[in-house]
Amino acid sequence: MSSGAPLNGFTAAATILKWLRAAHGQAVVRVDLDQVREGLPGSPLGKDVRVIKPPMPSPVESCEGMLVRNPKDAAEWGIFVNREAGPERRRFTIAHELGHFVLHRARQGSFRCDKESIHFGLDTSAVIEREADEFASNILMPGDVLRDAIANRRIDLKVLSDLAKTFEVSFEALCIRFIKYTDQRAILLHWDNGFLKYEWRSKSAVRTRARIRRTSDPQEPLPGTLAADESVAQAWDGIELPASRWCAEEAPYMKLREFKHSYGARDRVLTLLVLEGAEPRPWDQSWQDGESFDSYDQFVSNE
Ligand SMILES: [Zn+2]
Repeated sequence: MSSGAPLNGFTAAATILKWLRAAHGQAVVRVDLDQVREGLPGSPLGKDVRVIKPPMPSPVESCEGMLVRNPKDAAEWGIFVNREAGPERRRFTIAHELGHFVLHRARQGSFRCDKESIHFGLDTSAVIEREADEFASNILMPGDVLRDAIANRRIDLKVLSDLAKTFEVSFEALCIRFIKYTDQRAILLHWDNGFLKYEWRSKSAVRTRARIRRTSDPQEPLPGTLAADESVAQAWDGIELPASRWCAEEAPYMKLREFKHSYGARDRVLTLLVLEGAEPRPWDQSWQDGESFDSYDQFVSNE
């Protein structure tokens, strides 16, 4: 790193994107992971490594992905991927393993990554799993490209789905990334068999204290919402609702747009809530209550 910035998922991905753009022009939107894999050995991020072999099907069923150093040849590394996973998922997993390669290979000679730790980067995951996910998200969905693509634009699920196709990532991964980069007040909810599994809020949602009403634990969809309407599987254009139906603290005149996407055997549902704009409350310090943003956000807010 010429800037001397500490190496993390964001800075490592930014360095590689800079190399790719220098070699192939600014127009790099969909990153070629083979190019990254082949280019890393011998580069400043892949010192003392001769080769990272092309991804092979994982021999361990419970593993979504693995990164392994050849025990007989320390200069050779290999990546293994769950062969059952779809193409977008495999792509994210390979990027995640390349993240371990760049960030963590000095610590250990093998990495076995399960489904839960790849792609979500949950707070419950080990730090190195979150870092590898951060690398994967940043290399596959460059923040500057995404920010330009969603700026000043009416967002619906078709727009997000088209972006996911452009980046060749899963719809869900793109939606999570959208939440991190949008200037709008937005909340993404992931339901698993009718119960809330994950909730992500955009920065401005956090700063204006927009949060969903909690009525049960585990949380179920709130009455009168699309999420609660089992007759509706998809609502990509969304419907308008009073914001207070989801968020108890919203003023009665505020509106939101609720979108719905069901997948799997319709047992998994994504709900996207895009709220009307509201002034941040400068006296409200709740956004400092340990809300975690990715390092790009920290980077921006530290400027
Ligand atoms: Zn991992």
